Amino acid sequence: MTALIIDGKQLAQQRRAEWKLRADRLNAAGIAPGLAAVVIGDDPASKVYVRNKIRACREIGIRSEEHALAADSTLDIVLALIDRLNADAGIHGILVQLPLPAQLAPLAVLERMSPEKDVDGLHPHNLGRLLSGHARFVPCTPAGIMEMLKSTGFDLRGKEAVVVGRSALVGKPAALLLLQAGATVTLCHSQTADLAHHTRRADVLVCAIGKAQAIGGEMIKFGAAVIDVGISRSHEGKLVGDVDYGAALQRAGWVTPVPGGVGPMTIAMLLANTIVSAERHAAKQGIAL
Ligand code: NAP
Repeated sequence: MTALIIDGKQLAQQRRAEWKLRADRLNAAGIAPGLAAVVIGDDPASKVYVRNKIRACREIGIRSEEHALAADSTLDIVLALIDRLNADAGIHGILVQLPLPAQLAPLAVLERMSPEKDVDGLHPHNLGRLLSGHARFVPCTPAGIMEMLKSTGFDLRGKEAVVVGRSALVGKPAALLLLQAGATVTLCHSQTADLAHHTRRADVLVCAIGKAQAIGGEMIKFGAAVIDVGISRSHEGKLVGDVDYGAALQRAGWVTPVPGGVGPMTIAMLLANTIVSAERHAAKQGIAL
């Protein structure tokens, strides 16, 4: 058996066409959708992620601006920038690229953002709304994961879903979304005893741990949908996921590649959230689209 590959790049491209139409409509109505990306420090991966997000914005007609702050920026400096972006009517989405330098508590920064502009969906209000089933913005990576699963036609109701990794960015929101979609969810982490015991039962396996190829073929149920979120470097310096991709191809029903899987879908969902935010702004102003 060879798994079907869920091509995140292609799926993102399809979805982007739809968002471009909506961005065009907004621009024609005099609302230029605007995203501000805040990157603090010199982490090379963060810089690449932000550059990719800005390029993707440009491609579909979202105006974007990058705000680069020095690695030793104080909390006051960062909060002053967030306040300015909150007050800027031309900005509909703000993202603060994580991780932050050690002196900055992520919660203090995320909490300062206007929840209406928090297109990454990480403000405590927005995570709370997600928990209560009334999401304002769904965090981009978990939203992308759900889009990928939807693209397979896989009916999640009554299925066993196992999420490995419990971060607020990926694992926990992904587990909530799977639960809301009707799956029975197990959330695993570094202290889970006998991880394979859980993963082998999974009809849907979402891996978000950041350990190169930690999930071997023997940990995957035959026919499962495997979503690999992790991004690491192999010993040879190649980008790899949490899952042994070659082995997954032999056992799974569907599998996402790394790179070209969850990454492009994460960016697509950021575009989607920014467009939705600009549309809400237009609606508040009584502008018909
Ligand atoms: P994180 O905050 O470091 O969380 C990692 C999680 O994995 C933690 O809950 C940790 O458990 C768990 N874990 C670590 N080692 C484990 C093991 N051996 N067995 C079981 N669980 C283990 O990371 P994150 O922000 O969620 O990101 C996870 C990975 O996804 C990273 O590689 C990141 O680069 C990637 N990522 C990709 C995208 C994308 O767009 N493709 C987006 C976001 C993140 P404890 O809680 O017990 O420590």
